[in-house]
Amino acid sequence: MSTYRVAIVGAGPAGYFSAQVLQGLSNDDMAFKVDLLEKLPTPWGLVRSGVAPDHPKIKSVSKVFEKISDEPNFRLFANVEVGKDISLDSLKDAYDAVILAVGTPIGKKLGIPGEDLRNCWSSAEFVPWYNGHPDYSQREIDLSGKRAIVIGAGNVAMDVARLLAMNSNDLITTDISDGALDELHNSSIREVWLCARRGAEFASFTAPELRELSELKNTNVVISREEISEAIGRAGNEVERHVKANLDAMQVIARMDRREVNRRLEFHFGYVPKEIRGTKKVESVIFTTAQGEVEVEADLVVTAIGYEADPEWDLKLEGSHFQNLDGFIEDNLYTVGWAKRGPSGVIGTNKSDASNVVEEIVSRLSGRKPKNESLRDNLVENLNHIDLEEWRGINEFEIAAGVEQGRPRSKITAREEMLKVANSRR
Ligand code: NAP
Repeated sequence: MSTYRVAIVGAGPAGYFSAQVLQGLSNDDMAFKVDLLEKLPTPWGLVRSGVAPDHPKIKSVSKVFEKISDEPNFRLFANVEVGKDISLDSLKDAYDAVILAVGTPIGKKLGIPGEDLRNCWSSAEFVPWYNGHPDYSQREIDLSGKRAIVIGAGNVAMDVARLLAMNSNDLITTDISDGALDELHNSSIREVWLCARRGAEFASFTAPELRELSELKNTNVVISREEISEAIGRAGNEVERHVKANLDAMQVIARMDRREVNRRLEFHFGYVPKEIRGTKKVESVIFTTAQGEVEVEADLVVTAIGYEADPEWDLKLEGSHFQNLDGFIEDNLYTVGWAKRGPSGVIGTNKSDASNVVEEIVSRLSGRKPKNESLRDNLVENLNHIDLEEWRGINEFEIAAGVEQGRPRSKITAREEMLKVANSRR
């Protein structure tokens, strides 16, 4: 029997699901050993630093990740940055296959004047900020103004707009970072505009996320009835199911009675961003609309318009992801997840994606002699890393700290502290 060694770079959903598929493939002819490398001291990728804190159900997939980790053919090497602590070429030399599951961490740019003004953030910074990602938790997001504008009409824009518009007391029992919760408690933002460049029929939200908005007890969610009936008319009778579900959900919101509360989340469609204005920081956004140009005052702007692969990998890009053929990049290098197909789909989409890539790996490896195990062991075993047991130390510490506050966990947001807690487990 041939045992192949696979290095997966990036411990997010796509990385874990790839490990799971490889584990499931082990049979009499072929088996796999998986090393999962992650640049942060903590695994779980977007489940930890992307999924909104008020969506705990989505995060429960972390239980699956822990089960995958329990398998004897799995090792975690966290706090190891490929390209810095270890080179990609050395991984390719030592492993039979290397899978890049590194996502698309760069926020797309609008490419309009004023985007670099203070208090204009990309969702690629804003989302990890509220989720306590160590590289972003110290960002100084200024929530002292009254109105925030969120640009984009996808689920990320929706997460950002909802978190800004909701009463922060409703976040107390979540795993939002302590720092972000404090800032949101002190926030004076009371009006959030979510601005979509096209009509409601083109929005890329999903219907469950829209329906959830009617549960916000302390926020009026405002969508123009006229806009939705026009969008329904434009969409016509042959409308796709998900578009119909979205429009139905938006129509329900548009018909909702207003509550006596002082927070508003407004949806504006057909607002094409043209310029962000301000002297020292953002003060307004100019939009081109069917009615002409409008200038909307804003104290905070968040763009949530998609993501791109990190060019630092020095690999060919195709649109927002690495150039690849069914996950194959070159030599024994593969990719999976958002790095492979671009930033789309839900967490579960990565399961089928992982199966396809692993199929490709198997077909290219079959009949080949596995590389010598000592090559791999000489490379990674002396790496200064956080292993599974040490990560479990961090995990248990956070959960215990959360229990005291009635929360699922209280996240450590500084690397040094993560390393300290991990060390105490050694
Ligand atoms: P997305 O769904 O692709 O949405 C991006 C939005 O940005 C689109 O509305 C797009 O409008 C807009 N946009 C792009 N370029 C623009 C520009 N130059 N000016 C103005 N608007 C622009 O991406 P996402 O929201 O980042 O989400 C990524 C994936 O994660 C999606 O599949 C999403 O469903 C998923 N996700 C799921 C959840 C959940 O399940 N709860 C939560 C978060 C994210 P156009 O359509 O006009 O291009």
